[in-house]
Amino acid sequence: MSPAGFVAPGAMLGVLGGGQLGRMFVHAAQQLGYRTIVLDPDPASPAGLVAHEHVRADYLDAAALDRLAERCAAITTEFENVPAAALAALAERVPVAPGAAAVAVCQDRADEKAAFVRSGVACAPHALVASRADVERVDAALLPGILKTARLGYDGKGQRTVDDRAALAAAFAALGEVPCVLERRLALAGEISVVVARNAQGDVVHLPVHDNVHVGGILAVTRVPARAHVGAAMQAEAVALAERLARSLDYVGVLCVEFFVVEGGALVANEMAPRPHNSGHHSIDSCDVSQFELQVRTLANAPLVAPRQHSAAVMLNLLGDLWRNGVAPDWSRVLALPAAHLHLYGKDDARPGRKMGHLTVTAASADAAEATAAEAARVLGVAPLATATR
Ligand code: ADP
Ligand code: MG
Repeated sequence: MSPAGFVAPGAMLGVLGGGQLGRMFVHAAQQLGYRTIVLDPDPASPAGLVAHEHVRADYLDAAALDRLAERCAAITTEFENVPAAALAALAERVPVAPGAAAVAVCQDRADEKAAFVRSGVACAPHALVASRADVERVDAALLPGILKTARLGYDGKGQRTVDDRAALAAAFAALGEVPCVLERRLALAGEISVVVARNAQGDVVHLPVHDNVHVGGILAVTRVPARAHVGAAMQAEAVALAERLARSLDYVGVLCVEFFVVEGGALVANEMAPRPHNSGHHSIDSCDVSQFELQVRTLANAPLVAPRQHSAAVMLNLLGDLWRNGVAPDWSRVLALPAAHLHLYGKDDARPGRKMGHLTVTAASADAAEATAAEAARVLGVAPLATATR
C-alpha cells in the first residue's frame, strides 16, 4: 500500500539498506522527531550506526521483514537493488514508498529505457544484447557504443566502451554474457540531473537542476546553479520531463532522473534512481528543504512544500582515493574554509572509488562557491575542478 494518512513524528520509519543515503534519511527523519529502523546485513553500515534500531539480516529474511512490518508506520528504501520482492511483501502489511513496481523498473536498464519511451522521454538509441546472436545482429548504427549490464551496474561498473562488433563480442563475453543494453556513445556537452518528490495525492516538487561532472563513471562534482551551457529553457524542460516520468510511474517518494546534454543542446534521459541521489546532497546545506526531508515527507504523507535554494553550492565527492596509505586528509584545513560543509559517512575502509563522504561549499554567488571549492580541491588533493569541467 502507498502512504495514506499523515504519519506524525514519534512514529517509527523503516529503511531498507544501510549506506550513506540511508544514513542521511535517518538524520532527516530524526530531526523531525521520527524513530528509525534500518535493515542491512552489514554490522558497520553507515545508517545502521545512527538509527534507533539496526536489524542485521538479509533483505529477504522473513523474520527480519516481519519485525519491520510490525514495528514501522511506513517503510522506504535507500537503493534500487534491494529485492523488489522484499518491498512487495512489506507493502501487503504497511505503507511502502516508492512502490515495488517503480523500484523494479529502475533495477533493469532495459525496463528503464522502455519506461522512458512509454512516457515520451527521449533516451539514447539502444538495443538489448542478451545472446551471442544478438551481438551478431545488433544494428551497426549503435556503434561505437557502450555495453552496460542490464542489472546491478553503478558508478560505471558493469560497462565497456566498444568501438566495433569484435569489441562488442569481447565485451559481452567479459561481462559474463548476462543480459546487457548496448547504447550508442553520444557526444556529450554535459550531464544534469533533476530530483523530484511526489506524494500519494500527486503533488510534485523539485530541487534546482544539478550540473554534474563524472570522472571515470563516478560523480565527481555537482554545481547548483548550473553553468551557462545549461540554460533556463533546458532546465525547465528537464524538470518537466522528470515530473512526467514520476507521474507516469505513479511514483510516490523521491526520484532522480539523470540526463545527458548532447552536443547541439538536446536532452536525453540516461537513467533514473528511485531514491535521493548523490547529485542532490548539496540540498542539505543549500536548500531550506533537503532531498532527504522530501523523502521523509513523502513517506509520512506530510505536507509537501517546494524547496527553495538559499545558497549557491558546489559539491565535491570524497572518494577513498583521498586516503593516502590509509591516512585521512587533513580535515582541519578543509574546515577552515568558509561555508565548507563536511559530510563523512562513518566508513572505516577507504578503498579507491568508494564514496567516503562529500563536501558542499555554499556561498552567496556561484563564483564565490566555485572559488572556495577550487581551494578545497587543492587542499584535499582531488583533481583540480578545472579538469573536472569537461
Ligand atoms: P552508472 O549506472 O554506472 O551511473 P551510467 O549509464 O550513468 O551508469 O554511465 C556512467 C557515465 O558514463 C555517465 O554518467 C556518462 O558520463 C557516461 N556514459 C554512459 N552512457 C553514455 C553514452 N551513451 N554516451 C556517452 N557517455 C555515456
Ligand atoms: Mg549514472
